[in-house]
Amino acid sequence: MSHSVELAGIGMTFGATRAVRDVSLKVQAGEFFSILGPSGCGKTTILRMIAGFIEPTEGRVLIGERDMKGLGPNQRPTAMIFQSLALFPLMSVRDNIAFGLEARGVGRTARHAKADELLRLIALEGYGDRMPGELSGGQRQRVAIARALAVEPGVLLLDEPLSALDLKLRQHMRAELRALQKRTGVTFIYITHDQSEALAMSDRVAVMSAGLLQQVATPRELYENPATPFVARFVGETNAVAGRITAVDGGLARIETELGALTGRAGRRAVAGTPGTIYVRPEALIPGTGENALTARIERVDFEGSFALVHGRFADGGSLAASVPSTRLADAPAPGSDAAFAFAPAHAVVLGDE
Ligand code: ATP
Repeated sequence: MSHSVELAGIGMTFGATRAVRDVSLKVQAGEFFSILGPSGCGKTTILRMIAGFIEPTEGRVLIGERDMKGLGPNQRPTAMIFQSLALFPLMSVRDNIAFGLEARGVGRTARHAKADELLRLIALEGYGDRMPGELSGGQRQRVAIARALAVEPGVLLLDEPLSALDLKLRQHMRAELRALQKRTGVTFIYITHDQSEALAMSDRVAVMSAGLLQQVATPRELYENPATPFVARFVGETNAVAGRITAVDGGLARIETELGALTGRAGRRAVAGTPGTIYVRPEALIPGTGENALTARIERVDFEGSFALVHGRFADGGSLAASVPSTRLADAPAPGSDAAFAFAPAHAVVLGDE
């Protein structure tokens, strides 16, 4: 059975470091939930508080509506997978998966049946007799997950489990993990500093910065409607032009900048007469002039395969990033030239500065 996880105003202070400050959120049972943020923002600390390795200095952790205060890791319905997975090298894959069951007094036949069922689940049927050293990195990672799932946790906590894998394998494992989570229905709480990983896999994502929760939303909502300047810059690439908000009307905000007056959707704290910034995604910028356009001196064009990223410098010193699909590479402006890029107001958001 999967469980919900609720963090009610949790905080963690290590000496003078406030690693986590007043974080409240609720993960639904059966959800694939990611916590995303740069190194040191408090992600691992949150996971350790959920698992029961450390007690929060403030607030409460509830799993399946039950307050976990005072319960150690073995008394909680959670299992955790660490960054550097450690399979037992001298034990077969089957025995590795069944390890937690043995500790719980499950008999040999039942253990092996469970291990074989999990091997099917992770698409490694027939690999039970191999040793971990005879598996690829991605296969070992799947075995580590099977081992954690063997004890039927209501919540699986994953601490950057793909970070040691190469890019191709990581991308493949994203889809595998997502499918595995849906098949088992177990609540996954996944931490990562890789925004594309979080966007690709999660039902919802919590973005953290310096111990503080910035936003909890679906991947699309995060990308299209960032709630804070931090989220706008951290999730995906963005162009940011600062100015003064002059009008907010009908869901749109107009902002006066050094590059001219620009219009975007009115986001949080967009109030006329206050300082703000307009954020425009690279793919929203279309080469050409218009009434909502940005001009920049082009510095270089990076060909990335399916698209090219045009880099340049705005007159206010800010940097331009515009993506041009490879099929329209002929439209990309040449380095050294001044070029204009227009965008639709619906594809930009204006946020009040914090
Ligand atoms: P990373 O992605 O690098 O693992 P993170 O977001 O998981 O980072 P945490 O490991 O949660 O970050 O650490 C948050 C802050 O708390 C950091 O400033 C860290 O140095 C500090 N911290 C974590 N654990 C301890 C501890 N046991 N004692 C003192 N400070 C700690």
